[in-house]
Amino acid sequence: MPAVTVDNILTLPRIETPALTAVDRPVRTVTTAPTGYEGEGFPVHRAFAGIDMGALDPFIHMDQMGEINYAPGEPKGTPWHPHRGFETVTYMIDGIMEHQDSNGGGGTIGGGDTQWMTAGGGILHIETPPEHLVMSGGLFHGVQLWVNLPRSDKMAAPRYQDITGNKVALLSSQDGGALVRVIAGEVAAHQGPGSTYTPIALSHTTIAPGASLTLPWNPEYNALVYVLAGQGTVGVERRPIRSGQTVVFGKGDTLTVAAADTQDSRSQSLEVFVMGGKPLREPVAMAGPFVMNTRAEVIEAFEDFQAGRLGSIPAAHESL
Ligand code: MN
Repeated sequence: MPAVTVDNILTLPRIETPALTAVDRPVRTVTTAPTGYEGEGFPVHRAFAGIDMGALDPFIHMDQMGEINYAPGEPKGTPWHPHRGFETVTYMIDGIMEHQDSNGGGGTIGGGDTQWMTAGGGILHIETPPEHLVMSGGLFHGVQLWVNLPRSDKMAAPRYQDITGNKVALLSSQDGGALVRVIAGEVAAHQGPGSTYTPIALSHTTIAPGASLTLPWNPEYNALVYVLAGQGTVGVERRPIRSGQTVVFGKGDTLTVAAADTQDSRSQSLEVFVMGGKPLREPVAMAGPFVMNTRAEVIEAFEDFQAGRLGSIPAAHESL
C-alpha cells in the first residue's frame, strides 16, 4: 500500500497530547461493508451500507474500490454518467485512474493523489484506468466518498481540484507509531489541501502493529473510521475492528484507534480512512447519481439530464 510515506516519521510535526479533560468519543456502531460492483464491473465495498443517514451526515455514500490485483486486460472503469447536488472525493492508494468531465476538468490520479469534483448544479464524468494499465493489469485500490452539499450550494458551478499526494499534510503521533495524512480540512490543528463547501476533515492514517493513536477531532463534526486494511481496536473500550468495517463514533473531543500486535499478510499495518464533517441537518432525497433535498428536485435532475442540461460529452470522447 504505497500512498504517501516518509523515510523517518520522527521528522514530522507531532500531534499534541490531548488535554486530560478531553472526552474520547464512544463507539456507537461497527458495521461490515457488503461487496458490490460499480461502473463496468469493478469490485467495491459499500462502506456506509446499513448505517443511519443521520449518523453519516454530511456524507452520503462511500465505496472502497478494490483492493484487487487485476489480470492483464481486466481493469474496468465507469461509462460517462451525470451527477448533481454533491461532491465526489476520489483517493487512490494503488493503481491509476483517469478522469474527464464535461466541465473541462480531468487528469490522472495515482498512489496518494486525490481528485475532488464538485458536481454542483450538474456535470458528466467518466473514470477509467489508463490504456497501459488495462494492458498490464496490476494492483488497484482507492476510495470514493460522496460529500453532500448544503441546499444553498447544490446548484453551484461545477469545480475540479487535483490534490497531488505531495500536497497532503503529514503528521506523526506522539510516539511515531502512526502516520496521519491530512487530505482535507483541519486535523489536530494542521490544515490539509482540499477545499470544500461543507466543512469536513479527511485523513488516511497508518498505524504500526501494537501502536495506538488518540486523534483530536473537531467536536462539532461527526466521526467515522473505515478500515482499509489490517485489524485492531477502536475506543477506550477496545472494540475489535478489521478490514472492510466502518465505525461510527459518538460525541467527544478525540477518537482512539489502535493496531493489533499482529497484522495480516496483505498489510503490515492498520490502514484507516478517518472522516468527519459538520452535519447539514437538511432533508436528503437521492436517486442514482443525484442527491437533492426533495423528490421533485431529483425528478427535475433526471429531466435536466435527459434534456442535456447537465453538460455534454466532449467531442473527442463521443465514441466512448
Ligand atoms: Mn461518478
